[in-house]
Amino acid sequence: MWSYKAWRRRRILKRASIPEQAWDNACEALPLLANLNGEEHKRLRTLAILFLHEKAVEGVQGLMLTDRMRLMVALQGCLPILHLGLEWYSGWKSVLVYPYRFVTDRQQMDESGVVHRVRRHLSGESWLRGPVVVSWPDVASAGVIDGHNLIIHEFAHKLDMLNGRANGFPPLHRGMNVQTWSKVFTLAYEDFRQRIDRGDHLPIDPYGATEPAEFFAVLSEVYFETPQVLQQKYSDVYDQLHAFYCPVPPLIKP
Ligand SMILES: [Zn+2]
Repeated sequence: MWSYKAWRRRRILKRASIPEQAWDNACEALPLLANLNGEEHKRLRTLAILFLHEKAVEGVQGLMLTDRMRLMVALQGCLPILHLGLEWYSGWKSVLVYPYRFVTDRQQMDESGVVHRVRRHLSGESWLRGPVVVSWPDVASAGVIDGHNLIIHEFAHKLDMLNGRANGFPPLHRGMNVQTWSKVFTLAYEDFRQRIDRGDHLPIDPYGATEPAEFFAVLSEVYFETPQVLQQKYSDVYDQLHAFYCPVPPLIKP
């Protein structure tokens, strides 16, 4: 049956004019992609083209982005939705890339109702129904497989925000159990917080102990970068994330 969506997609892919050299350079800079098989590579590339067509990836404060830089954002950004589809990134339009860590200056109310002015240096943030904002040096550091990946972190927040504010509870697939997800993540989060409080050295970013939304984003980084660590430390969480990021059968066929 003829489908407008498929036709439009084919047209975008046909007209895409990203030089082969830029693809090679971007893939070389991302050792994370070495784990993908040929079919997954092809799918990721297709998603990256469609992503760049749909979203504006823009440098700010004078940063000029090359094809390679935009591809590095798109390829990493599309990893979490490799088996889900680009629809999972609906409702927002842009990725803003700063040349360095950026400063936020905001009012924040504490528990006693006192408003403070909070100034922070950030490597990235995701706005509800708004852009993803990242610092280029942190995006570029994806060349090391160490369980940290800024783009995956911020894009995991975007998936989490599909059903409202980020809270570590993205919309689950049919067949996944809401109670199981909740129980597994709650237990692991409490355990992780205790370990961090005790001063344990874990190969997982302690930032995950700040709130459930950060725990989900940080463990998503670990799931894609160093899955063996997650399997070892929190195997139940690994199983839940695997069911979420890699449902069987895949939800899409690009
Ligand atoms: Zn975060």
